[in-house]
Amino acid sequence: MQGMTRRERQITDINEITKILDKALIVHLGLVDGDEPYVVPMNYGYEFVDGKLILYLHGARRGRKIDLMIKNPKVFFEMECDLTPFEGEVACKYGLSYSSVMGRGVAEILEDTEEKKHGLSVFMKTQTGKDFTFDDKMVSIVSVIKITASEFTAKHRPMPKM
Ligand SMILES: Cc1cc2nc3c(=O)[nH]c(=O)nc-3n(C[C@H](O)[C@H](O)[C@H](O)COP(=O)(O)OP(=O)(O)OC[C@H]3O[C@@H](n4cnc5c(N)ncnc54)[C@H](O)[C@@H]3O)c2cc1C
Repeated sequence: MQGMTRRERQITDINEITKILDKALIVHLGLVDGDEPYVVPMNYGYEFVDGKLILYLHGARRGRKIDLMIKNPKVFFEMECDLTPFEGEVACKYGLSYSSVMGRGVAEILEDTEEKKHGLSVFMKTQTGKDFTFDDKMVSIVSVIKITASEFTAKHRPMPKM
């Protein structure tokens, strides 16, 4: 991925990145619709497997995002947390402190019931901090999307020093 312009703001510590993923809870998912972008906000769960970031999403089995993923599974994702606006004496000194993660990957609509159950458990663990189990009927009525990230970066914009 292209290097970050404000490199001093880049976060590489995986523990810090994990904290962002634990807090953000909403992903802005970018999809390709022919020659147009399409961005859809969704909740997510995540896990690291062999050092790779995996996201799980769930939702209805039909709709625009599902149609687009079938045509082109390449996705881009962004999530952020700790948004704190700050003021300044002039307009350009106003700003926002934040932490964020962005990356790209490949989406897969899961068909295997056990894989879907795993994805939903990971999803609920991230969203609620609790362990849930799912029966086959619950799993059959939703789509579960697995995104394997090929690359991602994280960034923190701190509050300005007074
Ligand atoms: C904070 C947040 C969290 C969400 N979490 C989830 C989740 O975990 N799972 C999930 O399935 N959905 C979630 N949603 C809803 C999601 O954003 C979509 O509305 C939904 O998934 C349907 O997407 P679709 O591409 O199938 O759209 P379709 O239902 O096929 O709709 C097509 C058109 O409707 C419009 N549209 C669709 N979604 C939105 C929207 N959110 N806002 C404005 N216009 C819209 C667009 O113009 C789009 O082209 C969440 C929404 C928000 C705001």
